[in-house]
Amino acid sequence: MATTHALAGVVLGTVVWALVPEAGMLPVLAAALGGLFPDFDLYAGHRKTLHFPVYFSALAVPAVAIAALNPTTATLAVALFLAAAALHSVSDMFGGGLELKPWLGTSDRAVYDHWNDRWIAPKRWVRYDGSPEDLALALVFAVPPVLVFDGITETIVIGAVAVSGVYVLLRKPMVAIAERLVAAIPDHLVDHVPERFVRDLR
Ligand SMILES: [Zn+2]
Repeated sequence: MATTHALAGVVLGTVVWALVPEAGMLPVLAAALGGLFPDFDLYAGHRKTLHFPVYFSALAVPAVAIAALNPTTATLAVALFLAAAALHSVSDMFGGGLELKPWLGTSDRAVYDHWNDRWIAPKRWVRYDGSPEDLALALVFAVPPVLVFDGITETIVIGAVAVSGVYVLLRKPMVAIAERLVAAIPDHLVDHVPERFVRDLR
């Protein structure tokens, strides 16, 4: 889920902050945003429009090299944003597929590989986004920043874990509610709803 990806980025940011604390918190924030960024395509070509497992990785390598040679707030922020976005895009292949009920494991689409022009199949090490193991990962990723940071950063990290917990509880009921809502909408109105929002629901 998005919060797990953001927290994975924060772990990268925490490591860099421990090495270069004088760069401040901006690189840590950039890492969190980079971890979150690909999922902004949720409503438009999810896991394809802003997910670039190959290109983000290819961009992250020189950005990390530049930041290692010349660690400033700006170079570290750029490197961490790209590294966290690459990590997100690549790690989506280890989760579930794109279907409405990913816990059924019927989709063969995890994330799009623009370089090879094909969908990468889900490995389901984490069965689906919002699964208990997804929450366990989020908890593990929250430990380093909570130990290292105080104040607002620590509060935001704990907040992200809380949001994750609520999402995990609601993950399956949300789908059931959406199915009932769509079933209750008259057919002539459903025709006006974009196909991809109702396809799996009917
Ligand atoms: Zn994603």
